[in-house]
Amino acid sequence: MYARLKGYEGQAAATDGVGKDPVNEPMIRHWCEAMGDTSPAYQGPDAVAPPTMLQVWTMGGLCGHTGRSDAYDELLGLLDGAGFTSVVATDCEQEYLRPLRPGDEISFDAVIESVSERKTTKLGTGHFVTTRMDIRTTGGELAGTHRFRILKYAPARRKPKGRRPRPVINRDNAGFWEGVERHKLLIQRCTGCRTLRFPWLPGCNACGCLEWETVEASGAGTVFSYVVMHHPHFPAFTESDHAADAAGPYAVALIELAEGVRIVSNVVGVPYDKVRIGTPVRLEFRWYDEELELPVFRAGDGGEGGGR
Ligand code: ZN
Repeated sequence: MYARLKGYEGQAAATDGVGKDPVNEPMIRHWCEAMGDTSPAYQGPDAVAPPTMLQVWTMGGLCGHTGRSDAYDELLGLLDGAGFTSVVATDCEQEYLRPLRPGDEISFDAVIESVSERKTTKLGTGHFVTTRMDIRTTGGELAGTHRFRILKYAPARRKPKGRRPRPVINRDNAGFWEGVERHKLLIQRCTGCRTLRFPWLPGCNACGCLEWETVEASGAGTVFSYVVMHHPHFPAFTESDHAADAAGPYAVALIELAEGVRIVSNVVGVPYDKVRIGTPVRLEFRWYDEELELPVFRAGDGGEGGGR
């Protein structure tokens, strides 16, 4: 297989490409604006094009270019056939040999420069394919080269983790998580202006005061808003305890607590498609794995007593 792949090295990847527009001031100006590049070298009567625009002059736009070679298509087909069906661009290298100026006409060819041995990366196993494009200007003078590398690979099979990501606990929110450990949902209250705030912040948005105390939420609330996550499927986030449903959608709700602040959480006790704005809910604490207990909100009956 590798010998067959190597056989494509040196063959054309694209031939006789022609730039859709000559190097021109409007494209240079737009590019400089987009990049925030205010260099005087790219302005005025003696302007040159920014060297890193090299690839711009070769791009096919929305209609694309049709110059891709049969050899390159065959090479990609061979890799597809061997199971390396995914593709990711990994890096590009450019070399600048001559400045391009407004009015320069662009032509280019590309060659399949190398095909790597089989490599295993975090993404999966496959082969790196490097093409080199030679970009020429009026009269055929080489202006620069653009080396582009892709990995054609078979995606690694990842085991679903089945565990929720851990909350990031820091100095500003540690008190909240200590509350969760004691089955209390704690809201911050500014000692300056008495404004309640959630999520936890180091200071008061209303008055700027850095002093605060906590108030324990009663546990009563309503669904203020919600979304239903259909894709991608994270088994760790599904509502059902039944493994068969582990890939199903789940609801993420914004709960308005009786105290007036809102918290993003999960609604449990009803199927994801029965969650509604205004649904009354009650706080409870749920273990998701041996280390992670989170506040959730139960809709319907059976949520009395805060779930202790
Ligand atoms: Zn305040």
